[in-house]
Parts: sequence; structure tokens; C-alpha cells
Amino acid sequence: METIFTLDDTCAQLLEKEFPTNFRNRFFIPFINGKECIYFCGNSLGLQPKSVQKLIAAELKQWGNLGVEGHFKGEKPWMQYHKFAKKTTAKLLGANESEVVMMNSLTTNLHLLLTSFYRPTKQKFKIITEAGAFSSDQYALETQVKLHGLIPEETIIEIFPREGEHTLRTEDILQAINENADALSLVFLGGVNYYTGQAFDINSIAASAKQVGAIIGFDLAHAVGNIALQLHDWQVDFAVWCSYKYLNAGPGGVGGAFVHQKHAEENLPRMGGWWGHREEERFLMKKGFQPASGADGWQLSNAPVLPLAAYLASAEIFEEAGIENLVKRSKVLTAYLEFLLLHSACASNITIITPSNPDQRGCQLSVIFKNGGKELFQKLQENHIMVDWREPNVIRITPVPLYNSFIEIYNFVKTLEAIS
Ligand SMILES: *Cc1c(COP(=O)(O)O)cnc(C)c1O
Repeated sequence: METIFTLDDTCAQLLEKEFPTNFRNRFFIPFINGKECIYFCGNSLGLQPKSVQKLIAAELKQWGNLGVEGHFKGEKPWMQYHKFAKKTTAKLLGANESEVVMMNSLTTNLHLLLTSFYRPTKQKFKIITEAGAFSSDQYALETQVKLHGLIPEETIIEIFPREGEHTLRTEDILQAINENADALSLVFLGGVNYYTGQAFDINSIAASAKQVGAIIGFDLAHAVGNIALQLHDWQVDFAVWCSYKYLNAGPGGVGGAFVHQKHAEENLPRMGGWWGHREEERFLMKKGFQPASGADGWQLSNAPVLPLAAYLASAEIFEEAGIENLVKRSKVLTAYLEFLLLHSACASNITIITPSNPDQRGCQLSVIFKNGGKELFQKLQENHIMVDWREPNVIRITPVPLYNSFIEIYNFVKTLEAIS
């Protein structure tokens, strides 16, 4: 990839011609001090599609005009609302439609699915996870372990990078799985680590977990809408994600859950609620919970229509753009950012900890600044550039294929050189 790049701005213009930012004008671009900014924080909060207001306004109007009848009438009856984006959601995850559902929030969904899928026995009770997982994942695992009366330190095995390295090696994860084969109940990792930007080899890890009879689950907060996923074919048992990062569904947006088809009819133990009951009988209000088949059977409550309207607006853009096309464009954007950083005047002050292999990352690059990282981060803001700072010394820079351009990357690196 690198050979096609050069350091001058004509390269950015040529790339822009070849891989145009076709969907940028569908989004509001934020301002800093009255000037449109270069927004590289789509990994944290995706930008607002302009169509969100229209879709939410339609449901507010429906509510105003129809009241309770809005559940059954109008263009998009609320009773069915959680299903309208199912097709696009399934494509983003590489899943069947019956395997996905949008509901609750990420951490809530993680607890719901751990309740079903983490079923420790006297012999098989251990959990393998990554060291430095997102805090909410750590807390969820720790508290689930305690719910079962087990001791986290004796139950959760964290895998660390090797001495002097920043990311995990697939071989080390597979080795840990094999070494703990007899006692292993669950393997649970992020699809893309939020801090390092490393994308894990989900397919190999899932296969290896399966071989030793362990359940395999993923937190896809930083993976969905970012990298190519094939959860069904990869035989992942369960996964959860949020929709406000790469999926642009707004702050606190509705979460998602995946349950593999093979578990659809197993009647797994779970937390039940009326919305997860068999749809044909939901309103009979009868005694005795009978779960709907597939992921829908984990729903608890009636769907949050207004947040789902925001999600639907974004899903329509993904449907139009095609995740394969976005991934293709993303790889060029991020490789270009990497090339410019490594050849910049600040090259000696930085270490990119995100893997350089495009198969092991999405669009985010995490960069350690050896000196003055915090000041640089602040100066970038003064120069209308929004990146994100993670203690102790990492700046995450995320060009998103839906709305970021090659020119923005060029201008970002020029600014970084000027203020360094
Ligand atoms: C963003 C993020 C979360 C956030 O969890 P919520 O329940 O949506 O607040 C959880 N896990 C990971 C890996 C994340 O990146």
C-alpha cells in the first residue's frame, strides 16, 4: 500500500478522486470556536446524520397525532419498530436477521447474555479475556463471576502483551485457550481493542475456543461498522455492541446483541421479559415465559422508538454505502495516515501502537507521544482538530470512511508538524 503514497498534497487530492468522501454531506460536521473541525473521534461518538431529525420528527408527529394507536398505525408502527433496521444490522455483523436484535445498552446486553452463556460448572468455570479490556467489560465479568459464588482472581485469566510489545499475539491467545482447555468455560474479548485499536482474529479464536468446548463471545463496540464481520460463519456464540460509535446513532444510543442460530431453539436460561416472549402470544399476558426464537427472545421491554429512529437514519446510510465499500476505503485512509505520520517531522516523537497489518486493525490509529502528548492534544484542539486523549499517553486518531477525507488527514499531519 505504502508505495502508492507520496508526501505532497497532490497525493491527497489524487486519493480523494479515487476514493471520494461520498457520504460526508449526509452528516453534520462539528465546530470548534466557530470553525468546522477535522473530526477524528468517530470511534468515540459518531457524527449525526442530517436525516436523524426527520426520522425522529416523524415519530414525534405520530405520537402527537395518534397517541397509543401509533403502536399499530402509520408508516412505521411502533410495535414493529425494532425490526426495521434488522436487515442492515445483520449485514454489518455478518449474521442472519434472526441472530441480531437492537435493545437496551451494551453493558446491559452483556450481562443478559453472560447470564445465558456463562454457566460455570465445578470443572469448567474459567474465563479467558484480554488484559486492559474496556472497564465495563472487566466489571461485568468480575461481577458475574461473583454472582456464581466464584473468586475473580481464581477464575478470570487475562492475557497480556509480551514484554516490550503493545498488542496481543493470536498465538498467545490460542495457547492460553489450549493450556486451560479442561477448566475453560468462556472466552470473551473485544473485537477491536478500544485503546490499542488492535482487531483480533475472531475466526481463529472462535475455532480454538470451540475445540476445547468453551463458549466464545465478543464485545464489538469498536468493531461494528468499522471492520468486516462474519459472526455466523465464524461460529461466534454471542456478541454485544453499542450504536453511538461507528454506527452514528447518537449519545446513549440503543445497543445490540447477537446470538448464533445454533442456540435459537435451545431454550437457554435467561432473564425474561414480555418483549422476549413469543410474539404471537405476547398480548395474551399468560403465565409461563416462552421465549421467541433467536436473538429476539432476549428482549425485555418494548423498544425505545426515538433512539431507534436515530439508529435507523444511520442504518439507511450504511445500507446505501455498503460496509464492504467502506472497509475498502477505510484501509486506504488509515494506511495514508500511518504513512504521513511515519514520514513526518514528528516521527521520532511517536510510536504507533496499533498493528501495521491492515487485517489487524480498523480505522483507528493509537499513537504514543514520547514527549508533550497532552500539550499537543490541547494545541490540536486550538487548531480545530478533534482527536481523543487516553491516559496515560495515547492519542487516538480515527479517520472514518463515511465522512473523513484524505485532505483532512494531510492537513492534520501538517498541523501536527507545525505545533510540535
Ligand atoms: C464504548 C464501550 C462500552 C460502553 O458501554 P455502554 O454500556 O454502551 O456504556 C463498552 N465496552 C467497550 C469495549 C466499549 O468500547
